[in-house]
Amino acid sequence: MPLPAGVELVNPNVRRGPFRAAVFDFDGTLSLIREGWPQIMVDRMLAHLREQNLVREPEPACAAHLRALVMALNGHPTLKQMERFVEEVRARGGAPADPEAYLRDYLDALMAVVRERWAALEAGTASAEEWVVPHAHAALALLQARGLQPVVASGTDLAHVSREVDLLKLSPFVSGRVFAPKDNDATFRKRDVIARTLESGRVPGTELLGFGDGVVETQEVKRAGGVAAGVASVPAGARGTHAGKREALIAAGADLIVSDYERAAHLLAWLWGEP
Ligand SMILES: [Mg+2]
Repeated sequence: MPLPAGVELVNPNVRRGPFRAAVFDFDGTLSLIREGWPQIMVDRMLAHLREQNLVREPEPACAAHLRALVMALNGHPTLKQMERFVEEVRARGGAPADPEAYLRDYLDALMAVVRERWAALEAGTASAEEWVVPHAHAALALLQARGLQPVVASGTDLAHVSREVDLLKLSPFVSGRVFAPKDNDATFRKRDVIARTLESGRVPGTELLGFGDGVVETQEVKRAGGVAAGVASVPAGARGTHAGKREALIAAGADLIVSDYERAAHLLAWLWGEP
C-alpha cells in the first residue's frame, strides 16, 4: 500500500507497526485553542527588552532571535522558556525580573485570547471541530479501534489542558490519561510520561507511536525507540503545512510529517503494514 497523499515520509526505514501505545502532545497537535501563542510570547519578551533599551539590533532580527529560543524549548514547561529569557536579558546587560513574573505576564496576555475562545466553545458559538487539528477526533477513534489508549502529554498547565480536553470533546478518547504540569510544575517531563506509559502497559519503546508539533516530544519519542509523526499544523481555519514546524520536526528526528489527520485511516493502515 502506498503512503497516502499529504503524508511526507522523512525516514524511509520507519518501522511499520503494530503499535500498542500512542502519545499525543496537546497544543498544536490536538488543540488549536492556543495557536498563536509563540507570537504572544515573543511580543511580551520584546516589550520587556524594549523597556530596558536592550533591543540593539533591528527589531525584526531581535524578534526572530527570540522566536528561535522560544521554539527550541517548545514542549517543555513554559517556565523553562522564561528562565531562558532571564538569561537573555542578563546577556544583554539588563536586570531581569523573576522567571515567574515573566510567566505571569505572558499568561495574562495569552489567557485574554484563550478565554475568548473558551467562552465561544462554552456558548456553542464555536464548535469543537473548529478548534482541533482537523479530524483529530477521528484519528483518536481509529487508534482506539485498534486497541490503543491514547495518552496526552502537554507542557501546558494541567487545569487548562483538562478544561480544554472537555471543551473540545476529546474526553471520550483520552479521559484519565491526560498528563501535564500541575500549577506550572517545572519538573514535569514528557520523557517521564512516555516511560510510565510504556512501563504500565508493558510495551517496548519500538511499539510507541508519537504525534507532536514540537521538538521535545519528537525527540523523546525517538529516544524511547518509537515512531514519531510530526504534525506541522496551521492555525484554526487555515490550510496547508506549517513550514517552520515542518523544518524543526524533521531536524528533531520526525519519521514522517502530516499537517492534520484527514488521511489518518490510510496512514494508520500503512503504519501497521497492512496490504
Ligand atoms: Mg505543541
